[in-house]
Amino acid sequence: SRPGRRLVSHQHAPSGRLRSFVRRVGVWKGTAIFTFASTLIAFAVTGVSLELAGLRHGAIGYLIALACSLTIMPAMMVALLSLIKRLDEAEHALYRLARTDELTDLPNRRALFEAAVHQLQTDTAVALLFIDIDHFKRVNDTYGHRIGDIILCRVAEAIDGQLSARGLLYRFGGEEFAGLLYNTPPADARDIAEALREHIQRTPITVGEHTLYITLSIGVATADNARNSQITTLIDHADQAVYEAKNAGRNRIHLAPAA
Ligand code: GH3
Ligand code: MG
Ligand code: MG
Repeated sequence: SRPGRRLVSHQHAPSGRLRSFVRRVGVWKGTAIFTFASTLIAFAVTGVSLELAGLRHGAIGYLIALACSLTIMPAMMVALLSLIKRLDEAEHALYRLARTDELTDLPNRRALFEAAVHQLQTDTAVALLFIDIDHFKRVNDTYGHRIGDIILCRVAEAIDGQLSARGLLYRFGGEEFAGLLYNTPPADARDIAEALREHIQRTPITVGEHTLYITLSIGVATADNARNSQITTLIDHADQAVYEAKNAGRNRIHLAPAA
């Protein structure tokens, strides 16, 4: 799915040399390459040994070398490379799973903190939008938790659709999302947040026979220089700004004072 692919394109599970080899050439071609190489080595060792022992270079010596190489090597390499391939795939799946929210399929909070460590490394402005759905408890009370889940997914999709051109959206937890916008000065961040708020306000969410409208309170925290900023500080400030937006009546954005 889309967020998963975005996640993987930014971050990779650690990998060794043999693993990237298997990834590149595959199990069967890899086995053929190892078998060919081992046959060459077996021939060379046979040749040198016969020479040193002062023996005749008869066919039997080379036949033994060939037989050993062709029987032992393929069996071992197929088993080994298959195992490495499966390990690689399992680790990749696990890596993705650990960083993906299962309900919305958005990258999760862990992915946010990791992305921040790797990517708040430029001398450009950065903004964090902390997005909290208004009165979501009422939605659950009205439609039930199961439909609430679907509504939450629809809202997540709608927010993601609005933000994807400017940054990445993460599910922070519950009905709270974080949008990390790189290279975005405060004035732009405010415009983006306001456009997002308006967009969601007028976007009908339809689940079965139910149609409803959702509003968001958004806190915006910014830093002029990403390298000097800290994700935890951005989150704290944006979270505080959300609190102000809620207090001021919800369905609004609030800017945190410049950090
Ligand atoms: P406010 O405008 O102050 O944010 O009100 P609120 O009801 O949205 O906020 P509150 O923090 O009181 O409640 C959050 C609600 O979100 C309660 C919880 O059941 C619901 N919620 C959180 N995560 C999920 C989820 O994954 N699925 C569903 N269906 N509901 C969720
Ligand atoms: Mg909340
Ligand atoms: Mg809420």
